[in-house]
Amino acid sequence: MDTDSRNRAARYFAELVLEHTTDAILMTDPDDTVVWLNPGFERMYGYRLEDFAGKTPEELLDSPETDAETTAQVLQALRERRPLQVEVQNRRRSGATFWVEKKLMPLFDAEGRHIHNMSISRDISERKEMESDANEMIEAETHRQHERRLLSQISEWLYSAKSLDELLMVVKKSMQTLLPEADGQLYIYSNLRDTLELAARWGDSPAHDHIGAEDCWALRRGRAYSFGTKAIEFACSHVGDEASPFFCLPIIAHGETIGLLHLCFSAFDRSIVPRDFIESFVQRRWEVGLLCAEQISLAVANVQLRHELQDQSMRDPLTNLWNRRWFMEASQRELNRARSSGGSLCIVSLDVDHFKSFNDQHGHDAGDSVLREFGALLSSRFPPGWSPCRIGGEEFVVLCPGATPEDAAREAEEFLRAVSEVELNHAGVSLPRITVSAGISAFPEDGRQIERLMKVADEALYRAKELGRNRVVSSRRKTPRKVA
Ligand code: GH3
Ligand code: MG
Ligand code: MG
Repeated sequence: MDTDSRNRAARYFAELVLEHTTDAILMTDPDDTVVWLNPGFERMYGYRLEDFAGKTPEELLDSPETDAETTAQVLQALRERRPLQVEVQNRRRSGATFWVEKKLMPLFDAEGRHIHNMSISRDISERKEMESDANEMIEAETHRQHERRLLSQISEWLYSAKSLDELLMVVKKSMQTLLPEADGQLYIYSNLRDTLELAARWGDSPAHDHIGAEDCWALRRGRAYSFGTKAIEFACSHVGDEASPFFCLPIIAHGETIGLLHLCFSAFDRSIVPRDFIESFVQRRWEVGLLCAEQISLAVANVQLRHELQDQSMRDPLTNLWNRRWFMEASQRELNRARSSGGSLCIVSLDVDHFKSFNDQHGHDAGDSVLREFGALLSSRFPPGWSPCRIGGEEFVVLCPGATPEDAAREAEEFLRAVSEVELNHAGVSLPRITVSAGISAFPEDGRQIERLMKVADEALYRAKELGRNRVVSSRRKTPRKVA
């Protein structure tokens, strides 16, 4: 091929490239006047050469979103006549903003004079979008990992809680850390299971002291309920006219619903915050909310089980009264309290009269049923706050915090009278009535230690036996009275 043909071929292909390239090429004079642009430029930006009459490229191409620092960088490179490559947001004729990768190149003639600047722009919107999606995913994943770490820390704390009070304290603190956007309340069913009582609350959202199961869609339908994102939905009546989204999450232990975790996103007023935003936000929190409810459920079940076991180890199986172990702990506790508050405390020691011969005559089973009956009577006959305990075979004590020796003697005498009036029978056979003797000691008059008080009460009890049984002897009273 001769030189001419080669030149022709070069021009031909150069024109083809300029015609079909998807890059946008713009030529300016050194004074920034636009002098030429390729068809690719027209296709990408929608501007023609005449649109640049009297205007610099920046005037037409920069959008309000264009980074001012990048524009300054471009202008400086042009002034200093050096090449530059940047990623920048530009505006199309339609007004739409998009990302381009822009290469600027100063062009010089054979004598080295600066004759033009060439700018080549490539549309990188798709890549930018993918990058931003990827960043969002990374951010979301980082957030999830953070939540998971927090959750596992929290579940450890929840599991270490020994009492319900301790557990509620952990729940409050944990929920505020894990879901800081949500106010919350934890309701637990009352013993009668007719209402749910407020056990813990955090944040400023209004709360009720108690709510009924029929006030809550989650409890009525038996599954977690989310409000605030659906076209047709109804707020629970315990929430009222609240405009914010909320979750109601049942707390389930050993297969039984025992409470309700209510989480309310009160910062998101639905009349102000756009629906899309609320929807995606609330959806992201839903899973964490469910996990929290699950963890709290397990922890409550754990505390309840611990409580039950502890209760079992503190109760006498025959009478269901507190046992000696409980009495020793509780009496020490009450004594400390009486000491620090300057209050009074009494101990009533009780022993069934002639029980050995009762057993011998009527059998051990009959004796057991009498002890059971006796235990029930003890539980029901003393004022609230006084605690009857079975500390041995047919030996009982009543711990009477706040009682004076006179209170204790009066109540004990009434109890002895009640016992002597009870008609007993076992296996269809009526049994002779039983009697009891009682001895009383008082803090602080008889001593300041529990061992001493027990000894004084027992001595008073022996005295009651000696004096003929079925009577109360108080360490404080000189002449004991026979009951009935
Ligand atoms: P006193 O009036 O002096 O107390 O005479 P008592 O026969 O009750 O004498 P004591 O307190 O020494 O006897 C206790 C008896 O109580 C011995 C035992 O037969 C009986 N007992 C102790 N624990 C139980 C029990 O769990 N079930 C039954 N059925 N009897 C018991
Ligand atoms: Mg005895
Ligand atoms: Mg006895």
